[in-house]
Amino acid sequence: MQFWNKTIETMPRKEIEQLQLRLLKELVTRIYEKSHYYHTLMKEVGVHPSDIISLEDIVKLPTMNKTDLRDNYPDRLIIADPEDIIRYHVSSGTTGKPTVVGYTKNDIENWSESLARSFTSFGLGKRDVIQVSNGYGLFSGGLGMHYGAEKLGAAVVPASTGGTKRQIELIKDLKVTSIACTPSYLLHMAEVAESMGVDFRNDTRLGSAILGAEPWSENTRRHIEDWMGIKAQNCYGASELSGPLFTECNEQDGVHVWGDLCLVEVIDPKTGEHVGEGERGELVFTMLRREALPIIRYRIGDISEITWERCACGRTHPRLQRVAGRVDDMIIIRGINVFPSQVEHVLGEIEEVTQHYMILVDSDGALDKMTVQVELDPEAFTDNILTLRAIRSKVAGALKDTLNVRVDVELMEPGSLPRFEEKAKRVLDRRVRM
Ligand SMILES: [Zn+2]
Repeated sequence: MQFWNKTIETMPRKEIEQLQLRLLKELVTRIYEKSHYYHTLMKEVGVHPSDIISLEDIVKLPTMNKTDLRDNYPDRLIIADPEDIIRYHVSSGTTGKPTVVGYTKNDIENWSESLARSFTSFGLGKRDVIQVSNGYGLFSGGLGMHYGAEKLGAAVVPASTGGTKRQIELIKDLKVTSIACTPSYLLHMAEVAESMGVDFRNDTRLGSAILGAEPWSENTRRHIEDWMGIKAQNCYGASELSGPLFTECNEQDGVHVWGDLCLVEVIDPKTGEHVGEGERGELVFTMLRREALPIIRYRIGDISEITWERCACGRTHPRLQRVAGRVDDMIIIRGINVFPSQVEHVLGEIEEVTQHYMILVDSDGALDKMTVQVELDPEAFTDNILTLRAIRSKVAGALKDTLNVRVDVELMEPGSLPRFEEKAKRVLDRRVRM
């Protein structure tokens, strides 16, 4: 097993937490002294840097979210001196003003360090050729991966997005061993390669892909790995945290979040209280070493869970499970949180149905009623009522097991449900609110 920084990556939890506390104290002192915004905010909620005595005291600090970044456009939250800023990334966002993230030299250094550790954890090193097919430019994906791969000492092919045939030729000709891109782009690339007569298994040296920047599932992972004969690694990040930042190791059992760079909390999105370890909730990030733009208790809107259990690879830092959904997508059925991604996962496991589905939520008296409409697989399509009943109870049973709520299932004819070209809207909440 290779490590980039073995001392830090295998540090006992207690030592990581001691380091986190020291860094948190320094960070809070820094923002209190240097940021007019934070100074005022901390005074308002009545917290002083000296109130941070243990890690639990982090809850005394206010949380922030994307709106705070937007409202302070372009640089009102930046605390570094202008001469120390060496880069800006800007995310356009689908609604409202863009958000700007500034970086000092150390910020870029820590970002690259984080990725170099992650790349090493699934076997990449100096001999590798990494094609970065994430967008370069204001978007932080391409340059982030680029600097991480260079730090590792690998050779970088800065392909950026588009020109798929050329990308495939580069993979072949430059003996690319790993590619960073979105899962949907990789699938598209695999299709184009087939049409060109290029077989990823035999005609290239591609061994892994670093995939992120959009939600994807374990089913998609298996599909990619079987089809292309590569390891598909999940990568986590967000433009506010620096773009791509952490990946899974070879074990593919959660993303290693480097605790000496980042402190992650998991809260109940409704109450804001911490949930127990291994319980699902909204992720809240504090970037402990950020110099230019402080990211403190940042509510990112992703729902997931973390564990501190030591990974089979020997790394001790907390591991983040695959994102289960967005806070905005969460549906509450009879007090239980349900995510469309869970439904999708269950349907993906059942052969007789497809991934075309709709979730309908209605009021049934004072209670909530959830119905999942799903298209039958053309192969399973029949008019035999007994067969259909059996499929329906199989789907309903599997959904109940995963969601912990009773679900009505309606089987639909193949091709009868809406198709979505862009962002799918699969939830129809028709509940009457009193
Ligand atoms: Zn691991």
